[in-house]
Amino acid sequence: MFMERKCVALISGGLDSALAARLMLEQGIEVSGLYLSLSWGCCDKQKAVAAAHQLGVPLMVLNVGEAYLEVIRHPKYGYGAGMNPCVDCRIYMFRLAKCYLEEIGAGFVVTGEVLGQRPMSQRRRPLDLIEAESGLEGLLLRPLSAHLLDPTLPELLGVVDRSRLLRVSGRSRHEQLALASERGMTEYSQAAGGCQLTDEHFAKKAKDLFAHDERPTTKDMELLALGRHFRIGPTTKIIIGRNELENLLLEGHAQEGYACLRPRFAGPSALVVGPWSEEVRDPAVSLIVQHTKEEKLPEGALEFFVNGRAWSMPRDTVSSRPQDAVKL
Ligand code: SF4
Repeated sequence: MFMERKCVALISGGLDSALAARLMLEQGIEVSGLYLSLSWGCCDKQKAVAAAHQLGVPLMVLNVGEAYLEVIRHPKYGYGAGMNPCVDCRIYMFRLAKCYLEEIGAGFVVTGEVLGQRPMSQRRRPLDLIEAESGLEGLLLRPLSAHLLDPTLPELLGVVDRSRLLRVSGRSRHEQLALASERGMTEYSQAAGGCQLTDEHFAKKAKDLFAHDERPTTKDMELLALGRHFRIGPTTKIIIGRNELENLLLEGHAQEGYACLRPRFAGPSALVVGPWSEEVRDPAVSLIVQHTKEEKLPEGALEFFVNGRAWSMPRDTVSSRPQDAVKL
């Protein structure tokens, strides 16, 4: 059986994936990098680009798209500590990697996974399961832990020299740091965490979103990373910016189905997610007032732009504690 001396290497911006790709390059194997992005916050895209640059390999950047949201909603293998469906997520991503492999005519896929490093997806059984369910059986090479795993097809065919692969396991990164230092590798993210879905605050907001919305979009997911969220009703949420950057980003999201209140005084913007009505207008203004310093509030009317149009209401009609606003 013939196999191309060319692989797709998943590059996350972290040390392990860069090192795995480097081990392939050292064996004279052509490497095409692939960065799979969750647009609401995952790995470090800039570091992935920098790592690929330092390795001297091309990098394809792909967004996972709307279909990924079904993976979050109904993970076959459940969630980790937050709302992170790590096993299903890896299967989904490796299926994308397989499509890319076929498109560019590569022989196999390389990842920086390390046996025992992550509790949910990097134990032996999930690693085997992910390989089988992604359709990459025998074609998924984890060079850092290769000696602790069964030989893959590229090793059996002699495309990859197994004796030059590693036996790394567990959560310590000492060995990888030493190997990177020997090789002068500097472009990798220091943080070794998971994505936003592993964060308990983000997970709480994501659970609320999926509980109230049959068909959330990636835009809804991106909004979870911005501001303070308050649920007002089954179809309505209000998001309050925490700084000027978030205020501007919230304004940028004010398209159909959203309304953004931008105060003309020094207070935060409020993005209403859901139908705009009097019932939602009052709590939105109350939340803005609640998150504005007293000395910044004007004496008379409170003036706003609502989706760019001027609007005002008397200050003394605003309740300082919005009823029925549940902080997420
Ligand atoms: S941490 Fe997030 S991106 Fe990584 S495998 Fe888990 S769900 Fe997927």
